[in-house]
Formats: sequence, C-alpha cells, structure tokens
Amino acid sequence: MKILVVGAGIAGSGVALMLTHDGHDVRVVDAITEPYRGGYQILFDRTAMRMVQRIGVLPEIEALSTPTATITVTRKGKDLARMRTDGYRSARRGDLVATIARHAERRVPFQYGVELVGIEHTLTGVVARFADGSAEKFDLIIGADGLSSTVRRLAVEDGRSAIYENGRHHLWVNVPGRMAGTTEAAILLGDRAGAQVFPYTDHDETLVLTSINLGRGRQHGPDLLPIAAELLATASDRFAPFVDQVRTAAPDRIRVTKFAQVRAPRWHARNVVLIGDAAHCIDPLSGAGAHGGLVGGAIFADELRRTPDNIAAAALRYRRRLLPFVRSAQLLTAGVVERATAGNLRQRFTADRSLIGAALAVRRADVPRRSFTTAALAASRSVPAPTN
Ligand SMILES: Cc1cc2nc3c(=O)[nH]c(=O)nc-3n(C[C@H](O)[C@H](O)[C@H](O)COP(=O)(O)OP(=O)(O)OC[C@H]3O[C@@H](n4cnc5c(N)ncnc54)[C@H](O)[C@@H]3O)c2cc1C
Repeated sequence: MKILVVGAGIAGSGVALMLTHDGHDVRVVDAITEPYRGGYQILFDRTAMRMVQRIGVLPEIEALSTPTATITVTRKGKDLARMRTDGYRSARRGDLVATIARHAERRVPFQYGVELVGIEHTLTGVVARFADGSAEKFDLIIGADGLSSTVRRLAVEDGRSAIYENGRHHLWVNVPGRMAGTTEAAILLGDRAGAQVFPYTDHDETLVLTSINLGRGRQHGPDLLPIAAELLATASDRFAPFVDQVRTAAPDRIRVTKFAQVRAPRWHARNVVLIGDAAHCIDPLSGAGAHGGLVGGAIFADELRRTPDNIAAAALRYRRRLLPFVRSAQLLTAGVVERATAGNLRQRFTADRSLIGAALAVRRADVPRRSFTTAALAASRSVPAPTN
C-alpha cells in the first residue's frame, strides 16, 4: 500500500517505521525544514520506553536521556503522595523527536519543508495537495500532524473543532538551580493554581510549569509570574530558592500555552487516519503523549495487517482498542488541573466529574506484542508489499 505520513514527530516516525516493517511503501513529510533540538524537558513513561525498544531506537534514547526524578505531590506544606517513576526517562523534547526521526529516516524516506494543504478523496484512494502546488495520489494518508492537525480539519472534522479547552493556561518558566540541590520533582496543588516543578536532570536548571485558571482572561506571561511565585512560596520551604527567580523571570524565559485536548468523535474518514496528538492530544501536562502516539501507531499497524483491504475497519478497531487509555488519561489530566484551579463550586463539580470518569475508564493500554527491532526491520525489506 502506498502511504503518506504527514508529520515527522514521535507518532509519525513511529508509525512510519512500523508500516514499513509490514512491507508498505511509506513516505513521511513535515512542514518544518529540519527537526529542532533542545526544548523543554519531557518524560517518557515505561510504555513509551517499551515502544522505543520495539522500533529499535532504545540505545540512542537511553544515551541521550536520564532517569526521571522522583515526584512528590505537595499541598500547602504537606506531602500527600510520592509517584514511582522507575523505568521513566527524561530528555529534551526536541532531542527525543529528532533522534526517533533520524532513526526512522534510515529506513523510510523523509521530506522536510513539505506542507500538506489539501486532501481529496477519490474512488480508489486519496490525493494529497502540497503548499508548493504539487499533488500526489496515495492509498492511505496518516495525519500525525499534531494538536492543530491540518489533516483532521480537512478530512475528519465536520466544521466543529475537536479541541477541548477549559480556560486553564500553563505558564512555563525555566529557573537556574535545583530543589535543595537534588533531582527531586514535585507537583504542587494550591487553591487557584497548580504546578509541576521538574529539574533538568542533565544540567542545573528547573522547569516550573504552573497551571492557572484565566477563563477567557489575560494571558500576558509577566503578569502571571506573581501567581506562580505565590504558589511556590506557600507550598513548602523546599521551593524558597525559586520564588524570587520565578517572580523576576525575564520575558525570554517565559512561555504561556493553553490547556488543550483533542476529543475527536472519529479518528478516520475513508482513506485518512489520524495518529498521535492529531487524534487524541492529552495535553503536555499528562506525560502520556509519547505513550499514546507510539502505542496508537503500533495498534493501527497491527489492525491494518489484519484487514489490509479494509482501512475503515482497521481504523475503527484501532480507535476502540486505544480509546480506554486515551479517555482515562484525558479525564485524569483535565480533572486534576481543573480541581487544583477551580474558582467556584460549578468548576469543582466539573473537575470531580472528570476524575470519576477517569476512574471508571481506567484500563491498561492494549500494546501489541510484536517486536520492531533493527534486525526485524532489516529483514522486512525483502517482504513484498501487500496488495490493496
Ligand atoms: C512542551 C511539551 C511538553 C510535553 N511533555 C510531554 C511529556 O513529558 N511526556 C510525554 O509523553 N509527552 C509530552 N508531550 C506531548 C508529546 O510530545 C506528544 O504527545 C508526542 O510527541 C506525540 O506528538 P505527535 O507526533 O503526535 O505530534 P507533534 O510532535 O506535534 O508532531 C507533528 C508534526 O507535524 C508537522 N505538521 C503539522 N502540520 C503539518 C502539515 N500541514 N504538513 C506537514 N507537516 C505538518 C509539525 O511540523 C510537527 O513536526 C509534550 C508536548 C509539549 C509540546
């Protein structure tokens, strides 16, 4: 099958490798001119690391990452819980994405600087239109183009945005130093704000990521710094060294983003399928985006192998298998953030409903058992492409 993957992020690179393994003729395009490096530190959970092993890039990811710090949940000076992070690894997001893409590029053709701008369904396939005016027909287009997916908007949404927002904003501030000189991390719960305090494990700096309930209000980063500083000051003495650093952070060390999840009722339309954040962004706070994108790609490849002549059926089974994980992760992430930042009773009720929904939806993600090691991928080059 001739397949176009739109997006060279973690989800796109992962699914491209898996589909190439199955003998498909796969190409990846991305609008950016080359993968960026650095960025905020993120964590890969145990499942994401298992998937990294399956696509044969474990040694490279281990070499650039470090074990994730232990996380303590704190509220007004009282430690409520400690989260186990055994097997989790942390590194800068850009470095992780670039390493996985470079690994995939050894087996799958990647084209950077190519932006998809149009999609047309035909009787026998789907035509992709690109920003340079060119067009090409494929049997399948996979939209792995992230939160603001063009593929989703063009082919899957029915005019209504699938993005869920709740008026919460994240204030990202990098500050020098680490909590008491350790690699401990923390989640802080306040009355109107919550925060994640994560040390960079490879150098002496800490990310303070504060979630604030602004509704439709102002989002000017410097105006929000006192809220973050106040939360740190009231949480525990451990954070005292960061309070002034945050309060006086320079504008170039601040970023404000909206809390956003993709809650799309469908993940496919005819010969177009969504993978990763394009289908089900959980929000960066969750720490589960790489998990969902990589597992989703593996499940879709698995289902397409079962019915290569019926993309729609494969896509429906893929969604059915991944949805319990996505639903519980989305509701849990939204519920925790909304509860920690609730401004009134109605908002508390909404948050509690999300948390109860998460508890009811909780199930283990369904990870296919197949291995996608380097050796298996090398052997796959001689496998003829299945006809469709
Ligand atoms: C700041 C931040 C922190 C995060 N922290 C964590 C964490 O700790 N743990 C975790 O697991 N996850 C985290 N995530 C989420 C995680 O990075 C993603 O869920 C995961 O990488 C999957 O992303 P993706 O490949 O689906 O999409 P993306 O990484 O968004 O990739 C989409 C790609 O599509 C390209 N593209 C978009 N439109 C077009 C177009 N029209 N034509 C061609 N190309 C296009 C873009 O250039 C981009 O390269 C974080 C995300 C962010 C932003």
